Amino acid sequence: MDLKSGSVYWPETLREAPVYSSVKEDIECDVVIIGAGVSGACTAYELRNTGFDVVLVEKRTVAAGSSSANTGLLQFANDQLLHEAIRSFGKRPAVDHYWRCYDAIRYLQNDIVPSLPIDPDLVMRSSLFFASSEEDIGKIQTEYAALKEAGFDVDYVEREEMKKWVPFSRPAAIIAKGDAEVNPFKLTHGLVRAAAEEGVRVFEQTEVSLKKADEAGVVLRTETGHLLKAKKAIFAQGYETQETVKDPNAVVESSYAIITNPVEDLSFWKDGVMIWESNRPYYYARTTADRRIVIGGLDEPASEGSARDRKMPAKTEKLIGEAEAWFPSLKGKIRAEYSWSGSFAHTQDGQPIIGQYSHVPNSLFLLGYGGNGVVYSLFLSRLIARFLMGKRDAAFSFYSKERVYEPK
Ligand SMILES: Cc1cc2nc3c(=O)[nH]c(=O)nc-3n(C[C@H](O)[C@H](O)[C@H](O)COP(=O)(O)OP(=O)(O)OC[C@H]3O[C@@H](n4cnc5c(N)ncnc54)[C@H](O)[C@@H]3O)c2cc1C
Repeated sequence: MDLKSGSVYWPETLREAPVYSSVKEDIECDVVIIGAGVSGACTAYELRNTGFDVVLVEKRTVAAGSSSANTGLLQFANDQLLHEAIRSFGKRPAVDHYWRCYDAIRYLQNDIVPSLPIDPDLVMRSSLFFASSEEDIGKIQTEYAALKEAGFDVDYVEREEMKKWVPFSRPAAIIAKGDAEVNPFKLTHGLVRAAAEEGVRVFEQTEVSLKKADEAGVVLRTETGHLLKAKKAIFAQGYETQETVKDPNAVVESSYAIITNPVEDLSFWKDGVMIWESNRPYYYARTTADRRIVIGGLDEPASEGSARDRKMPAKTEKLIGEAEAWFPSLKGKIRAEYSWSGSFAHTQDGQPIIGQYSHVPNSLFLLGYGGNGVVYSLFLSRLIARFLMGKRDAAFSFYSKERVYEPK
C-alpha cells in the first residue's frame, strides 16, 4: 500500500535516527512483532523486560509508514463523540473507553517519556472543539454534557469567550483539558530504542510473509528466504494489514496535511490549544516545537499513487486557505514547507480492533484505526502484553473484533 506521499516533516527533526540491520539468518523467539510503526513500537516497549524473547521486524525503516504521516495530536476525545459512543455501546463501555484514552496520555507523560532515550517533544495541551455552524450548537452542548457527567475537565465557551483562545470565533465550543501534542517520529524511534536497549532484537528492511501458523506457533519467511519462528506473533502492520486480513469493520481513506514555515509570533493562539471542529470531515490544527502550524483534514475516499499526488497542489492550497481564514493576521505570510497525503483508516463502529483470526492461530492483530491512532496503540499494546502474560482484561473483549459490530 502507498501509505504516504509528498514531503513529511518529522524525519527532518531526527536526522541521526537509529539504524538497525536486516535479518541475515533464521531466528527463533517467543514473540515476533511485525511492523515498527508506533503500534509495533509500543508493543515492543511493553514486552521488554517481561521475560519473553522478542523480535521486532520492519520492512521499511522504523516509523517510515503512517507513523511519519501522523500529525501528532493526542486527544482523549475521539472522532466518534462520547454521546455518540454511548448511543452505540452503552454508557459504561463508552465512558470507560474515553477514560482509557485519557489515561493513556497520562501514562505516556508520566511513565513512558521519562524512560525514553529520545525526547519525543511531548507538550501537554488543551483542545478546542468548535461548532462548525449554528446547526451544530446542539451537538456541542450534548457532547459537553456527556463529557462533564463522565467527569472530564471541560469548559463550554460561547462566541466571545472563544476569541480569548483563537482569533476567530464560532457559536459554541468545548475546551477539553488533558490532551497533548507529540512528535510521532521521535516517539516511535524512542520506544523502539528503549526496547532494543532492553533486549528486544530489532530488524529493518526485512519484509516478512506468513508461511505457517498452527497450534505450535507461527513461522514467517523473509524475502531473502530466512525463517522466523515464534510462539506468538503480533501483527502491527498498520493499514497494510487490510491487504492480507481484510476486516469488514475497517475503511481506508486518504487524508492530507501541511506544515508551514515557522511563525515568529503565535501570541494570538492561546497556549497552543489544539483545534478541531464538528464538521465531518473536519479540519484540525496544532503548532510545533519550532513554531510552525500543522493543519490537516480533507479526508475523502481512498486514492493512491499518482491519482492522489495529482490532488496535492489543490489540497495544499485549500489547507493554507483554511489556516489563513482561522488566523487572518498570517494572510500572505505562511506557506506550506511540508505537504503530504496519506492512507488513513478508521472503523465503521468507531473503535480500534484487536483481531484474532481462526485461520491464523497464535496471532494478534493490533489495528489502532482512527484519528486517535497513537492513543489507541498506547493502550492496545498494554492489553496485548497483559494477554500474552496470561492476564485477561474486560477491556480486551471490548476491542476484540468479535464485538457487537455487524457489517451493514
Ligand atoms: C495525515 C495523517 C494524520 C494523522 N494524524 C494523527 C494524529 O494527529 N493523532 C493520532 O493519534 N493519529 C494520527 N494519524 C493516525 C496514525 O498515523 C496511525 O494511527 C499510526 O501511525 C498507525 O501506526 P501503525 O504502527 O499501526 O502503522 P504504521 O506506522 O504504518 O506502521 C506499520 C509498519 O508495518 C510495516 N509492515 C507492513 N507490512 C510488513 C511486512 N509484511 N513485514 C514487515 N513490516 C511490515 C510497515 O512498513 C510500517 O512501518 C494520522 C494519520 C495520517 C495519515
